[in-house]
Amino acid sequence: MPVTSATGKQRRKVRFASTSQISAGKSSITPNQPAQSRPSSTTLSQDHTQPKQQSRMSETHVHPAVPALFKELPIIQDALTTETTNLQEETVNKCLPFLKGIHSSQKGPFNQFGVPPLNRDDHIAYLYDSLEDYPGSFVALDASRPWMVYWALAGLTLLGEDVSQFRDRVITSFRPMQNSTGGFGGGHGQLSHCAPSYAAVLSLAMVGGEEAFQLIDRKAMWRWLGRLKQPDGGFRVSEGGEEDVRGAYCAMVLLSLLDLPLTLPPDAEARKHGFETFTSGLSDYLSRCQTFEGGISGNPGSEAHGAYAFCALACLCILGEPEATISRCVDVPMLLSWLSARQYAPEGGFAGRTNKLVDGCYSFWVGGCWPLIQSAINGTQPATAPKQTSTGNLYSREGLTRYILACCQGKHGGLRDKPGKHPDSYHTCYTLTGLSTTQYHHYHTELAQAPGETSPLHFPGNSFLSPARTIKDQT
Ligand SMILES: [Zn+2]
Repeated sequence: MPVTSATGKQRRKVRFASTSQISAGKSSITPNQPAQSRPSSTTLSQDHTQPKQQSRMSETHVHPAVPALFKELPIIQDALTTETTNLQEETVNKCLPFLKGIHSSQKGPFNQFGVPPLNRDDHIAYLYDSLEDYPGSFVALDASRPWMVYWALAGLTLLGEDVSQFRDRVITSFRPMQNSTGGFGGGHGQLSHCAPSYAAVLSLAMVGGEEAFQLIDRKAMWRWLGRLKQPDGGFRVSEGGEEDVRGAYCAMVLLSLLDLPLTLPPDAEARKHGFETFTSGLSDYLSRCQTFEGGISGNPGSEAHGAYAFCALACLCILGEPEATISRCVDVPMLLSWLSARQYAPEGGFAGRTNKLVDGCYSFWVGGCWPLIQSAINGTQPATAPKQTSTGNLYSREGLTRYILACCQGKHGGLRDKPGKHPDSYHTCYTLTGLSTTQYHHYHTELAQAPGETSPLHFPGNSFLSPARTIKDQT
């Protein structure tokens, strides 16, 4: 039964997963597109010119171009059987028919590499639908309203849709979620929190326009962020809330994007501990989050995790040149070792932690780390002619592309964690972002914003302290 969306278009009704299977993201993220990028030589997702396979239900119809790495069990297998190894084996067996292209739900035509196409129109329709009404069982996501908007808009933007059509709806939706004491809550009447504030501000940036920008009370945001800064250099995610690298990353994105002063507000508690700026002690705090495994945890002493690794690395890239900040604060060879171990074969996708299962959303959380590390290793490049990557590919772009296109696409649109799971807008957004990273080489170039330049959201008339100091002044 078609439904009419607020945009006036006729749309089919979205198929919702049961609430228990909804995975709400707990951190923030953005498709961090550097100034210069260009298509890589990887063309796995292109050229779907092969005739459609007649039947994909039999091993005899496995596409000959699928390498053994992605269609056979690993050569070395753990002899010790545990719940973890059983789950891993089960997951591999669920993925294999999709990787081989023989699962009955897969749509062709497969390209010359045996990879199915991106069902672009289905995903676009799914994301438009995800901006419409939700059944009552979704009440558990009431504190994630800005995220629901962000995932849909980011996904649609990645698929080439113009999301400025949602400007009025986004402004109307977020206005009641902003607190007069600064920041945005996850829903109406809720406490301000770094994560929904991040999602709200990035959503407003995506729809654009002066009215969207003017909605944000920058001065109150600055004062609120000042109350989140902690004596050890990190940030809490909310007043009285937990302290972790999500808080640090979201705070630095908000400060940077809104062009807020880096000087701490006069009443900030952290001033009593000798700090004067938001960046004081921050890189040391992030450095302490690298674990014995080489990965990065949510806070010092916790387990290394892909999403926290992204937050910490992205935060370091805001603090200064990636080649300077990442190299100074992180043991890069150890981190590369840990990140590389997150990619599995034959699945091809990433897992978030040691001994965990592959999951589509880590296509971004782990996949998004590679361009940042690549930028750190390659150093700042001339904007006009970045050199070819001296480091080559740090991960298997082919593997990730195969996992996303073969295993993550839902039959009726939307992308998912893994075969057997329902699609949702969170996984749709982050698998698409991961797919994008496989298609480009990213560089940090000389065209990156120089001190004194205004950020995209800065309006001179809206400035409340001058001169506004940029991040780079403090590093
Ligand atoms: Zn996931």
